[in-house]
Amino acid sequence: MKAIVFEKIQQLSIQEKPIPELTDGDVLIQTQLCGICASDLAALRGDVSDYAPPVVMGHELAGIIVDSRHPDVKIGERVTVNPMLSCGVCSECQNDLDKYCKNIEGIGHDIDGGYAEYMRMPKHGVDTGKLIRVPDSIHPEELLFLEPLGCCLNAMRETLFKDSVAILGAGPIGLILTQLTKQAGLATYIVEPHAHRRAVAETLGADHTFDTSPESVVRLRELTNGGVDTVISATTNNTSAIAFAFEIVRRGGCLNFFGLAPEGEELRINLEEFHYAGHKLMASWAFSRASLEESKQLLIKKALNFEPLLTDRFPIAQGLTAFDNAAAQRGIKTAVHP
Ligand SMILES: [Zn+2]
Ligand SMILES: [Zn+2]
Repeated sequence: MKAIVFEKIQQLSIQEKPIPELTDGDVLIQTQLCGICASDLAALRGDVSDYAPPVVMGHELAGIIVDSRHPDVKIGERVTVNPMLSCGVCSECQNDLDKYCKNIEGIGHDIDGGYAEYMRMPKHGVDTGKLIRVPDSIHPEELLFLEPLGCCLNAMRETLFKDSVAILGAGPIGLILTQLTKQAGLATYIVEPHAHRRAVAETLGADHTFDTSPESVVRLRELTNGGVDTVISATTNNTSAIAFAFEIVRRGGCLNFFGLAPEGEELRINLEEFHYAGHKLMASWAFSRASLEESKQLLIKKALNFEPLLTDRFPIAQGLTAFDNAAAQRGIKTAVHP
């Protein structure tokens, strides 16, 4: 089978690999579609440290069971994965905080993931509930968004909101958040340098969209009587967005550093100003089992519109082009398929 392998920093290759062999309790997933995540791009650039190459990346998967040696899993079931395999018994795992488990193994980070024709889900993952089965009514084009939506739902639960929110970045995450904040009744402002992404944000209900110019700061502050209540950074590896966030948030407002920041980057704060500004600084990342379940229920209800989000698809054999396309932010979401 063909696979896109993250060999080392700055080195990605298309390889011919054997179809994974199953041992007792494992299942084999045939990939239908797998979304390219900004964190994969960051790993390839060498900006983040939580990947263990060489590895087949890919954790936003839509697939189908084609072989099962697990008594609970049937051939033909439509599935995606909760890509954080964890021990299942420690106190973090008991409290649905699997991402803080000391024995975490990430699908597409540490063990082979979905940028391949087939992927093995180990018995341990099935037994700890990390194989997510969905009804046939969810199409692969929607299913690959189950994990990103789960991350957004986790952020929605953690963030402090009042009336207005500015989302920095209208990539896949920003555009999912746009739909969620509008559904939550919030005045939603999108800041995004690319016109094609701003246009999609408008079709998905954003109240106003802005480019990243200084005039946008002025206009945003006018529209919100001095600053937005909440800013969510949904942009990866973009330190200028952080400066922008502090310029548009009101005193007492909340800033969520949701987008991934490059390894080694630091934030300097004047602590006296910070005290009197009363800002609520926070970060949200990844998902919980509960947020992925909620995500699945929203997909079943067709509560969100993913159609304008999945813009670019490439066969695995053209995986390098697919990565270039995603890195250039040409469409919205780029995905690969067999
Ligand atoms: Zn991701
Ligand atoms: Zn654990």
